[in-house]
Order: sequence, then structure tokens, then C-alpha cells
Amino acid sequence: MKRKTKLIHGGIPGDPATGAVSFPIYQVSTYKQEEVGVHKGYEYSRTGNPTRFALEELVKDLEEGKRGFAFGSGMAAITAVMMLFSSGDHVILTDDVYGGTYRVVSKVLNRIGIEATFVDTTDLNAVKEAIKPNTKALYVETPTNPLLKVTDLKAASQVAKENNLLFIVDNTFSTPYWQTPITLGADIVLHSATKYIGGHSDVVAGIVVVNDDKLAEDLHFVQNSTGGILGPQDSWLLIRGIKTLGLRMEAHEANTKKIVEFLSNHPSVEKIYYPGLESHPQHSIAKAQAGGFGGMVSFDVGSGEKAAQVLKKVHYFTLAESLGAVESLISVPAQMTHASIPSDRRAELGITDGLIRISVGIEDADDLIEDLKQALQ
Ligand SMILES: *Cc1c(COP(=O)(O)O)cnc(C)c1O
Repeated sequence: MKRKTKLIHGGIPGDPATGAVSFPIYQVSTYKQEEVGVHKGYEYSRTGNPTRFALEELVKDLEEGKRGFAFGSGMAAITAVMMLFSSGDHVILTDDVYGGTYRVVSKVLNRIGIEATFVDTTDLNAVKEAIKPNTKALYVETPTNPLLKVTDLKAASQVAKENNLLFIVDNTFSTPYWQTPITLGADIVLHSATKYIGGHSDVVAGIVVVNDDKLAEDLHFVQNSTGGILGPQDSWLLIRGIKTLGLRMEAHEANTKKIVEFLSNHPSVEKIYYPGLESHPQHSIAKAQAGGFGGMVSFDVGSGEKAAQVLKKVHYFTLAESLGAVESLISVPAQMTHASIPSDRRAELGITDGLIRISVGIEDADDLIEDLKQALQ
């Protein structure tokens, strides 16, 4: 099945019980048992719910894994994956991971003895040097947020395999429409489905897909034990969002290409970060491992004051956290999504006060360019 068909016909297309073409919302917490332990596969909705299962089967197919899991947020999904580890275990992560990931790892998981080292995973020698006897996993985000750095997934998976590390990839920015890390050697793929997968700024959700039965069993145990599940209504919204994922990603891509061209030629833009640019340091890796470069672009206008001016003047770009929705969004990572990263660390990473991040929506590209033009004046 090709990608676009899979978005519509993957997973459990329709309800086997009724023939309903749109999978129903099973708004239910518990299920009748004929005798103790004799039931139709469902006992209690934390453990399993048909609508959530339909979504989990669909994302499993999209990511080409063994089993999918849906959580109440991307952070719940990431936390559940981290709960596969124990006190004394060590994990290596990409240095400019999503701010919330940095926060949960450095301020919550550290308290229960899970150690972490943040390294530039575009440099696999740095990854190798960070490996310790108790290292259990390599956790990569690619492309990253907000600097759009790209890690070579195939090469990184090789390093993980050679050192017996679980290889975990946050695939939020690319989506399974453009990039399927499991086919490149990942053991676990996860998403903030709040972003492109949902796509309409109306649901907060997380997804995990694993590539083997033992991991599936372990993660289901964590999911059922800790309980951060996605509800049936939100599961349904994701199933609906996924149907147009392909159309949306193509539209984001086409618009982004035009906007990047405009920004590249603008005198007020000092630096631009986009993996689709030939000047991007990992352009060839991005091109080889993903079908598209995505709809996220960051650019530096030189100072916090200038960035604030742009934010104030734009009409079609909504000032908001989050990304990946049909509407274009704009943010200043230093003060918003990455505010939880200490300022000296932000400077080290290159997340300057003048850095603006845009999530290009699917409006008409001419309107978006016109808007940026007047805002940059
Ligand atoms: C938003 C985001 C998360 C966190 O997901 P939530 O749904 O907000 O909990 C994790 N990783 C990346 C790359 C994100 O953009």
C-alpha cells in the first residue's frame, strides 16, 4: 500500500461491528464480561478502548512498526517511553530537543535516578564519546526544534546497535508521511500528535510506535500501569486528522519552499535554518532519509527588539506555541517554547533572542509572503 492510500485504508478501516465507514467513538469505560475473564477483548478503557485501538493500529501501519500506543500528550508518550528505564540507567539525547523533553529529563526523571547526557547527535563521534557502561538508549529528535538540525538516522542506528542501545526517535517534525525511522533502524518512534498528525490545533496527544513484540509488551505494561492514555474522542480526532495528513504535508511543503526563497533574499534576515536549503549543513542527509523537508523554518533577524516588531506586525501568522497546524504560527523560541532552557545553554545552542520560528500553514503562499514582507519592513 502506498503512503497516501495507507492514510485512508491503514489500521482498521471502518467499524467491523457495524460497517460504519468512520470509526465510531466508543465513549465507554468498562465492558460486560460473560463470565469472569470471558470478554470480547476489552475489559477496561485504560487497558484498551476500541477507538484508541483503531488509532494505534493506524499509526503502527504508518510508521511500519509492530504496535502503536496513544497517550494524552506528547510528553505523556515521552515519559512512558522513559519509564522503560530504571534508576541508574543512562540515556543520550539530542542537545536541542524539544524544551519539554529537556525539562522532564533534567528536572523530573533525574529525581528518580535516570541519568542523561545531551549531545549534538549530528556528530556521531560525540555520541560515541558519551556512551557509558550504564547507557541504555540513544534518543534523537530530527529535524530539531527550533534549529532544524538533522541527524543521520541510519548511521545513528548503527551506533546504537553496536553499543546495545535502544534507538528512540522523535518524529514529530517530519511525520510518517515524510520519514519512517523504523525502516532506518529505530526501535521506538514517538510523536507529539498535537502537531502535524492532529493538524488542526484542536487536540493534545502523543503517539509511540515500537518495532518489536517485547517492547510492545513492556510499553503496554507502562501505559496501563501509569495511565496516561488518550481518550476516545481525541483518538477519533487524530484518525480524522490523519486522513488528510498527506494533502496537508504536500501543501505545507509547497508553501514553505516559496517562503524560504523569499526569506533567503530578504536583507533583514541574517540567518535562515531550513533543511531544504542546499546550504543547510545536513541537506543531503535530510534529502536521503525523508521525502520532504517539512513546514518549519527558523530565521534570525538580529535582535529581540526586531523579532518583537515582526511578531507585532504579522496578520496571518498567529503568535502561539505549537506547530504543524493548518494555520501559520509564529513564535520566538527563546521566550516561549525554549524558555525552560537556561539562557546560557540557549546561547550555547544558538537559540538567540532574534530567532523567529514559523510553522508554515496551508493558506495561500502569496498572502503569507506579503504578510512577512510588510512585517519585516
Ligand atoms: C510539542 C512537542 C513535544 C511535546 O508534545 P505535547 O503534545 O505538547 O505534550 C515533543 N516533541 C516535539 C518535537 C514537540 O514539538
